[in-house]
Amino acid sequence: MSLSRAEGILGSLGIDRPEDIDLEMVAWSLGAKVKYRPLCSCEARICGHGDKAIITVDDRKMPQRVRFSLAHEIGHWTHHRGRLLICRSDDIGKFAGSIRGATSPEAVADQFASELILPSYIVKPMLKAYKTLNLKTIQAVASAFSASRTATAIRIMQSNVYHAMIVCHGVDKRRWFRSAACVPDRWFPKDTLDSESYSLEVLVTKTEQP
Ligand SMILES: [Zn+2]
Repeated sequence: MSLSRAEGILGSLGIDRPEDIDLEMVAWSLGAKVKYRPLCSCEARICGHGDKAIITVDDRKMPQRVRFSLAHEIGHWTHHRGRLLICRSDDIGKFAGSIRGATSPEAVADQFASELILPSYIVKPMLKAYKTLNLKTIQAVASAFSASRTATAIRIMQSNVYHAMIVCHGVDKRRWFRSAACVPDRWFPKDTLDSESYSLEVLVTKTEQP
């Protein structure tokens, strides 16, 4: 299995279990120190000089989000050293706009973060224990890696283990989707949800809540 850059870093540190993915330790191994404090104009940032950097992450968010933001900044430190990048909430984990292969700095940092938090060389073997892909499977993997369900679901699609697709809908239309590479291109999600879909009921019910 060929490893991505993020996975190569984890591998070089001898990490082969989800609970061992200590992002502060990973950052430290790359010369970056991590600080947590409320930030006003952004969600996370990195200030580097030479081979040293300080990553600051707003710690008022959900733990999975804080973790993703930290991994995103480590991605900038790895790929965009020497460039000034301030990462607002809209820039981090922007699943609607970032697809694999996208080359904008934010998309590259997001993909790096996904691979650092959910490395395929640990995720794929773990998925063998789950014959069916459903929300329970996604939640179990997300919990093991301290990741969000959305980030986990996308990585599971990228793992190409299941013939599956994740589709995100707004009330009016489809926002984005990801499918496993093994899903034929002729399978394409519709722009709107079917009126019989259970998802539509969930979406409308949630939207109507005060
Ligand atoms: Zn960023």
